[in-house]
Amino acid sequence: MARKGATQQSSAPYNRRIVLDVIRRGHEVSRKEIIDQVGLSPQTVANITQDLETMGLVISKRVKGGGARGQPPMAFMLNPRGGDAIGISLEPHKISAGVVNLVGEVLARREVVNDARDRAATLELMVELVADLSAKSHDARTLWGVGVAMPGPFDAPNLSFVGPTAIEGWSDLSILTELEVRTGLDVFYNTDSVAAALGESLFGVAQDLDNYFYLHFGIGLGGALILEKAAYPGERGNATEIGHIPIQPGGAPCYCGSQGCLERYLSLHALSEAIIGDVGVELSNEQILRLLARDDERLAAWCQAAAGHLRNAVCVIENMLDPTTIVIGGSAPAALVRHIVDLTLPLLPSVRTGAPSGRSRITLSERQEDSLILGAAVLPIHEVAVSQLRDLALDAPRGPRRGGFPQADAVGAASD
Ligand SMILES: [Zn+2]
Repeated sequence: MARKGATQQSSAPYNRRIVLDVIRRGHEVSRKEIIDQVGLSPQTVANITQDLETMGLVISKRVKGGGARGQPPMAFMLNPRGGDAIGISLEPHKISAGVVNLVGEVLARREVVNDARDRAATLELMVELVADLSAKSHDARTLWGVGVAMPGPFDAPNLSFVGPTAIEGWSDLSILTELEVRTGLDVFYNTDSVAAALGESLFGVAQDLDNYFYLHFGIGLGGALILEKAAYPGERGNATEIGHIPIQPGGAPCYCGSQGCLERYLSLHALSEAIIGDVGVELSNEQILRLLARDDERLAAWCQAAAGHLRNAVCVIENMLDPTTIVIGGSAPAALVRHIVDLTLPLLPSVRTGAPSGRSRITLSERQEDSLILGAAVLPIHEVAVSQLRDLALDAPRGPRRGGFPQADAVGAASD
């Protein structure tokens, strides 16, 4: 839903953001529609749309079929050439990267096999990818930076950079500082789960959602809680690491030191382990799809068990958080996720059962294969757009903006 504008002078950045959010959600919006939705005066909305056009974030055109007299009305839309960002998704065994424009189109993408335990080689590869993708941006001079999405949590000694579902052996994230120095671009990072959730909020199935839970089904299992369009970080930025919630007393040992964690039963790593044994080899998505297509018995048994755990997890999340919906995305093949979700039906009763809501309890990502690249690219888009909206100074000196856990109202409305 749209938010109402505020009338104080100090609320200008906030008003710019809500107007931009209305334009983003509507794709092509008239000035009257903006006025109706945000409740600001026509003059204020005219000033704001002019500001946004000056910043290059928004373009306008005259639309046909306007009133009988006078000029046809203006329609506003996000500017596809308003700025590009490079998104890098770092997983233990591969790097996916792409250059993404302001409306979420992936202009070019690359995927490279990589052993992330080799930090030096990983840095060289990221530098090479950034150079290659910069050249494919519509204008490398307007690149907003590089976003890196990687398995979390960070700064949690038992869990960071440990185990097969993490970037094993990294002692810290200084490599991202080196990436910044080598590329001359600002580098932003977040957990893959939070980044992908932001991608869904900005460009995906969650564009009209303010409150939802995002379940990230990749090599590991992660989560993000989006509250009023921002990712809830918890005390130290490590909230919603749902993969390490114990669900099986005396269950499979987990690298976090616990036993029976959800991720041990519901993740691509758990699937590979079940099919080919724990030899540090992960099934590729193509291999998984082939197994699925030929109704492989081991895969079927694993999916059945995984669906039971997912059914419980959905019930736990709903009873704890009462989200509008649970969005499921991640690097797992879409067909596999859909199959497992089908097996969870019927879901268990929860506070969501029978609740009046236009949304189904589970929403599947529609850009599964792009979700991590998009999510990573959203990090600089968010940071730069928000700071520009705040300052409205296109040539203001750019301060340090690296860091985890930006509040996730990317190019949209949030409390200022
Ligand atoms: Zn665990």
